[in-house]
Amino acid sequence: MTNAKEYIQQVQQSLHEKDQDQTEFLQAVDEFFSTIEPFLTEHDVYQKSNLLQLITLPERVIQFRVPWQDDKGNWQVNRGYRIQFNSALGPYKGGLRFHPSVNLSILKFLAFEQIFKNSLTDLPIGGGKGGADFDPKGKSDNEIMRFCQSFMTELAKHVGPDTDVPAGDIGVGGREIGYLFGQYKRLKQYDAGVLTGKPLEFWGSKGRTEATGYGVVYYVKHLLEDKKDSLKDKTVIVSGSGNVAIYAIEKLIELGAKAVTASDSSGYVYDPDGIDLALLKDVKEVRRERLTAYAKERQNAQYFDGDSVWNSEIKADVALPCATQNEIDIKQAQLMAENGIKVVAEGANMPCTMEAAEYFIEQNIFYCLGKAANAGGVAVSALEMAQNSQRQQWSKEDVDQQLDDIMLNIYENCRDTAARYGQKDNLMMGANIAGFAKVAKAMLAQGLV
Ligand code: GLU
Repeated sequence: MTNAKEYIQQVQQSLHEKDQDQTEFLQAVDEFFSTIEPFLTEHDVYQKSNLLQLITLPERVIQFRVPWQDDKGNWQVNRGYRIQFNSALGPYKGGLRFHPSVNLSILKFLAFEQIFKNSLTDLPIGGGKGGADFDPKGKSDNEIMRFCQSFMTELAKHVGPDTDVPAGDIGVGGREIGYLFGQYKRLKQYDAGVLTGKPLEFWGSKGRTEATGYGVVYYVKHLLEDKKDSLKDKTVIVSGSGNVAIYAIEKLIELGAKAVTASDSSGYVYDPDGIDLALLKDVKEVRRERLTAYAKERQNAQYFDGDSVWNSEIKADVALPCATQNEIDIKQAQLMAENGIKVVAEGANMPCTMEAAEYFIEQNIFYCLGKAANAGGVAVSALEMAQNSQRQQWSKEDVDQQLDDIMLNIYENCRDTAARYGQKDNLMMGANIAGFAKVAKAMLAQGLV
């Protein structure tokens, strides 16, 4: 038997040969592999059973076409997917992303990360992800509805409350979940638990919309408290202006921190007085407009067109990338360190390139991996499944308290696992090993399926 390092390299090399065009997926695997060697050395049973090869292959990949009619009466067609990556811990669970960039590589990276994220929540959910290369931007409500109905017409054959439970992600919110749910109901039966992130009127969980954003901030809160510090009076750079960013900003304000930025696909807004949450919500959630509208209506706020917030010279203590994958590269990571950033917590999935992540760790910047820091969304999705099974709706306070407890548990698990493997404060290693350990044990116990 070779040593763990060589074994990892062998599996890695074979994946790079076979999946060479899947750059995002390979990046997610490489980042994961870069941290698990000490665990594999300690548990040679996983090498003997070739578990790494098994865990990097999805159990099932479903690909389908999605034909739909636009408002002019023309027929359009998109590519739809569902990756059922790993069911060791429970039914496949993970969001649907509607975005023109969606392809097999991106969904495989997201589904792969989801396995370990879901494991870290300690709730009974496996890992999956899906979506389509459909661009919701500029589409009418009716077009969105027809697209969702067509998408679910195929997806319904593969999902169910005890097999695979999708939710939202970029481009999929309460409105889309409602249309998807209606179509599932029409085709099959009333299975409330087939989707999460449902509107509150029909089986949704209180606190689900806020959960990812609140969860990231709870993770940072627990980290800082552990270091005898707090979020009070901290300046925070936030990217994104979707669900995750908006509710991260809401919780930051509540805990006495100042969020000074938000961004969209064409630029970012800098508000030195601190983001006005009511205005941000009105612009993004009610009017569905761009951030330029925010900057116009708010004194002292400035919009930087065509630039990334991570190129800015703004001095801050904490960074919350909440936009999308690979938004922070090594140069930007260096600039962030120069600007005083001490904590980076990922609200988005894989927003940092591997070089950026390694740089943060080298510089002793607390780097909170998305798998751990943004697990609050899927955790409350699992609580939604529990409520649906019970035919109950819990109070907002109850859900929020459970979310806070789950994020504390995840933080402590990452911290303790990193320390146990000799790398105190390497929360990236802690997250990967802790997430992996549980899934690997379950796969072995189930006879390596
Ligand atoms: N899309 C979210 C994530 O990246 C949530 C998934 C879910 O709630 O199932 O974790």
